[in-house]
Amino acid sequence: MSRTPHLTARLQGLGTTIFTEMSQLAMAHDAVNLGQGFPDFDAPPAVADAAVAAIREGHNQYAPGTGLPSLRAAVAVHQRRFHGLDFDPDTEVTVTAGATEAMCATLQALLDTGDEVVLFEPFYDAYRAGARMAGATERVVTLRPPDFSFAAADLEAAVTPRTRLVVLNTPHNPTGKVFTRTELEAVARVCVDHDLVAVTDEVYGHLVYDGEHVALAGLPGMRERTVTISSAAKTFSVTGWKIGWVCAPPALTDAVRAAKQWMTFTNGTPFQHAIVVALGLPEEFFAELRAGYRARRDRLHAGLHALGFAAFPAAGAYYVTADVRPAGHDDDMAFCRMLPGEVGVAAVPCSAFYTDPARGRGLVRFAFCKTDALIDEGLTRLGRLA
Ligand code: PMP
Ligand code: GLN
Repeated sequence: MSRTPHLTARLQGLGTTIFTEMSQLAMAHDAVNLGQGFPDFDAPPAVADAAVAAIREGHNQYAPGTGLPSLRAAVAVHQRRFHGLDFDPDTEVTVTAGATEAMCATLQALLDTGDEVVLFEPFYDAYRAGARMAGATERVVTLRPPDFSFAAADLEAAVTPRTRLVVLNTPHNPTGKVFTRTELEAVARVCVDHDLVAVTDEVYGHLVYDGEHVALAGLPGMRERTVTISSAAKTFSVTGWKIGWVCAPPALTDAVRAAKQWMTFTNGTPFQHAIVVALGLPEEFFAELRAGYRARRDRLHAGLHALGFAAFPAAGAYYVTADVRPAGHDDDMAFCRMLPGEVGVAAVPCSAFYTDPARGRGLVRFAFCKTDALIDEGLTRLGRLA
C-alpha cells in the first residue's frame, strides 16, 4: 500500500485493545482470567430459555434496523421503572450491537474532523478510538485516587470552543467509581453552560453496591442534550450477545440511527427477543444480582489487600483497581504481561486507559465477575508472587 488510509492514521498509536492482548496471554498460559470483564457463569435460566425459544419459534431473520418494537418498548419501560426517565420507544430508543456500537455510532454521528470530546481518564478504551475515527481528538479530566474524584475546575478547563461532547461512564470502568449526584451536577452545569451534548455509558447501572446510580439525563437541562447508552451484557451476563441500546431525544436519535444503519444495520434477532424477557425480570433478580456482586467485590478486595496491594474502594461495576507498587511492582504494564506466564493469572494494566500512561502507572484492574472458586484460585496464585 503506497499511502496510509486516513482511518489507519487516525488510530495510529492506539494499538490492539488491551483486553485482547491480556485474554490472549491468559489463553496461552491457561491463566485464571481476572482481566477481560466477562462472567464465568451463565445468563439467568429464563433469559437463556427465551433465546432458545426465539430461535425455535423462527425469529432468525433481520430485526428492524432500529430494533424490535417489543425491545424498544421494554427499554422505555425499564428506563421509567429504574430511572424515572420517559423515552418514546419509536423516536427515542434504538437497539444496537452492544454498547460498543451504540458508542461508536454516536461518536461518528456527532463529531466532525477537528472537534474535541471531553473524556474522564482512566477511560474505557473505545471512547478515544471512536472519537479518533471521527477525526476528533480527546481532552481529558483526570480522576484522582483514592476516590477517583475530579476538580470541577479541571472539567471547565478541558472545554474549548471546539468541544462538542462530554463522555461519561458511571458506574465506571476500570475504577468501580460511581459518580455522585454532586459530581454529575457539575458535569451538567458545564454541558448546559457550553451547549454540549453528554454521552453516558451506563452499562453497569444495575451494579452499584454503595451509593446510587444517577442517570445524567434526569438532571435539569440534560434530558434534551444527553445520549444515554446501556446494554444487556453486564446485567444479564451475556457479553457475547451484543445487544445494547441508545436513548436520546429525537434529533439526536435520528443522527445516531443514520450512522448505525451503515454499521451493523441490525443484529441478534433471537437475543433481542430474550432481552425483552430479561428487562422485565422482577425486582428480586436485580437485588440478588447486586448482592452476589457485592459479596464477590468484598472477597476480591479483601484478598488483594491481604496480598499487599493497595486496592481502591469499588462502589460499582465489577472491577477492583489496585496499586501494585506497595507490593514491589512498579510498572503495571510489565506486571500484567508477566503475570499469566509467571503465576497463571490475567489482569488489566490501567495505564492503557490514560492519555499519558505515566498517570496510570502501577494501577491494575482485577475483575470480580467470576465465581468464588475462580476468584479464590486467582488470589491463591497471586500469593505465589515473589
Ligand atoms: N462500556 C463499558 C464501560 C464496558 O465496560 C463495556 C464492556 N463490556 C462496554 C461498554 C461494551 O459493552 P457491549 O458488550 O454491550 O458492547
Ligand atoms: N468491557 C469488558 C472489559 O472492560 C470487555 C471489553 C472488551 O473486550 N472490549 O473488560
